[in-house]
Amino acid sequence: MAVVVMKFGGTSVADVERIRNVARHVKREVDAGNKVAVVVSAMSGTTNQLVAWVRDANPLYDAREYDAVVASGEQITAGLLAIVLQKMGLKARSWQGWQIPIETSDAHGSARITKVDGEAIRRHLDAGEVAVITGFQGIEPKAQRLATLGRGGSDTSAVAVAVALRADVCDIYTDVDGVYTTDPRIVPKAQRLPKISYEEMLEMASLGSKVLQTRSVELAMLYRVRVRVLSSFVPPEKMSPVVVDRLENIGTIVTDEDEIVEQQVVSGIAYAKDEAKITILKVADKPGVAARIFGPLADANINVDMIVQNVAPDGKSTDMTFTVQATELPRALEVLKAAEKDIGLFDVQSSADVAKISVIGVGMRSHAGVAAQMFKALADKGINILAISTSEIKISVLIDAAYAELAVRTLHSIYGLDAA
Ligand code: ASP
Ligand code: MG
Repeated sequence: MAVVVMKFGGTSVADVERIRNVARHVKREVDAGNKVAVVVSAMSGTTNQLVAWVRDANPLYDAREYDAVVASGEQITAGLLAIVLQKMGLKARSWQGWQIPIETSDAHGSARITKVDGEAIRRHLDAGEVAVITGFQGIEPKAQRLATLGRGGSDTSAVAVAVALRADVCDIYTDVDGVYTTDPRIVPKAQRLPKISYEEMLEMASLGSKVLQTRSVELAMLYRVRVRVLSSFVPPEKMSPVVVDRLENIGTIVTDEDEIVEQQVVSGIAYAKDEAKITILKVADKPGVAARIFGPLADANINVDMIVQNVAPDGKSTDMTFTVQATELPRALEVLKAAEKDIGLFDVQSSADVAKISVIGVGMRSHAGVAAQMFKALADKGINILAISTSEIKISVLIDAAYAELAVRTLHSIYGLDAA
């Protein structure tokens, strides 16, 4: 008998008919004798609508009340799924974050889970009841206010619940049947990865693949939770129930690197179009300048990603290029303007027409030449590189947004990822 956490995203619970489909997936596991905790998202579109209402009410809203509003989407689906499960003859009840409780930090709107008490849920599972848990939300224990985890946060709820219940697997059901080598809408020859390591998944998630929330992968990696990404649109009776230690390899299993036998050097190509580039021209080339530029940005909570600093040919001034999220560009420019006194006089150029393309693979640790191959392939297509950043298992380049798709297709093919 396995303890299974099943998470269903917004498209999987988009209406009552789809909730019935989800209930059949749940029933399959219960009928096999597994103990099931389900984590649900809001119906697709609901959270966007709730956010829009809050912004309409007051663009400078109280973040605690934002959370009170947007947390409601998950409450609806949890209740509906419990009702549908009961109608199928299963024992089920809904749980909201505060009832468990799932405790969070006080960073309303993007809170972190600090603690999940698995006790109560566990007792109910032991009594043969399905626990249907609201994703995305919890309670901040000091002020006893609802808090939400940031967009896509139900994935993180699911992994946190899996940790608390010491679940055998955390199955994330979505509208695609796994994690792909790249976005199949851009590269039709993209392939489903049967397995991917936590590290690679973490890079994929933070570099623009929207399948899993980044924090959920961090958490899974920390606690070594086995995560599977599956499609809820595969008919429930066509899938076999979870068997401990014999996890069927459907979808994508996110797991330890050493469990992946035939590891490719490169496992995926990610791209993100939501970056913007800022270049500061002619800043003084002396100690402390970088701190005076990036300090105020950090204080304003603006995340800086890639940074390139040139040499100063005249020994006096240099150019500095870096990227921020495109949505943060106006704020970043304001912050820089306000810091002009400290930084010293400078010219600034900016553009949101850039894309970041990344090549990811744990195999890079032991293989030389991956970067050189990337740069050559891009050069052959006449694509100019504006900035580069690397980690042990990824290389990212910033390019003109117009070339994003060509770059992704080219790289996907030269690293041998195209399906036959
Ligand atoms: N409903 C929330 C959102 O759309 C959380 C989630 O679906 O993961 O961001
Ligand atoms: Mg999601």
